[in-house]
Amino acid sequence: MSYIGRFAPSPSGPLHFGSLVAALGSYFQAKANNGKWLVRIEDLDPPREMPGASSLILNTLDAYQLHWDGEVVYQSQRHGLYQEQIDAWLASGQAYYCQCTRKQIKASGGFYTGTCRDLGLNNSSHCAIRLKMTHPVYHFDDRKHGQLTIPKALADEDFIIKRRDGLYAYNLAVVLDDIDQGITEVVRGADLIEPTGRQISLYNMLGQTPVSYLHLPLALDSNGHKLSKQNHAPAIDNSNPKPALLDAMRFLGFAMSTDIEQSDISEIIAWGVKTWQIKQLSDSIEITPRFSNSSL
Ligand code: GLU
Repeated sequence: MSYIGRFAPSPSGPLHFGSLVAALGSYFQAKANNGKWLVRIEDLDPPREMPGASSLILNTLDAYQLHWDGEVVYQSQRHGLYQEQIDAWLASGQAYYCQCTRKQIKASGGFYTGTCRDLGLNNSSHCAIRLKMTHPVYHFDDRKHGQLTIPKALADEDFIIKRRDGLYAYNLAVVLDDIDQGITEVVRGADLIEPTGRQISLYNMLGQTPVSYLHLPLALDSNGHKLSKQNHAPAIDNSNPKPALLDAMRFLGFAMSTDIEQSDISEIIAWGVKTWQIKQLSDSIEITPRFSNSSL
């Protein structure tokens, strides 16, 4: 089977160091396997998006010479795919409407325990849609970290596939798109280890073979917080890509000679593809990067 990987950024802001690491890691892994590398913009949640972020992200990938295969896919144009599956599950009784508020769930211990499962609520009452969890996943194999465990209460939960505000849930969209695009392996940051259990459950419910997973170390800031758009991680530089590129490659475990460091961007990327191996990644799930080249 030929390898198809992907990078799936949410356009809530420009790419930061952590998302560059995910872009590079998924690119190297795909290209080292003679595979395709697709880009999917996960614009599922307009209130959290920044106008112009999608094109900014694509310009950044261009500046770092990370060239994707095929057309960029936008989740905002794929609501039909998500709704069709939800309708099928509603019709078969595998999904149901739920009126519980976040506050109520928090008050009853933080996990939803099936309050609305048998109430037969209908759409008119401002409801979220949940999936009956018939295939809970408590463990999965990560290509770097081996067997990872999902907390039982999380794995057992009937999770939301469409929110009460009408937005499609991330887990559903990711899995339907990965299946539709023929993705064979997902390479992304370790912040997404937890939802992986739910995503594998969805493959099982859909009767599909799950992808394999490789979670990359998560970049922390000097206070030990995840670098993220929400934490205002600085945007990486499009006009002078080399410093952040070298820092991100070092973070991914590459040992680079001065010769390589002095090469141009496309040569550094080609060298990365040639030398990349999963075993060069740190065994830690979270790392505070040492920035030697970029001023991030
Ligand atoms: N869109 C998600 C993010 O930017 C990544 C989804 C994924 O790689 O599965 O955090």
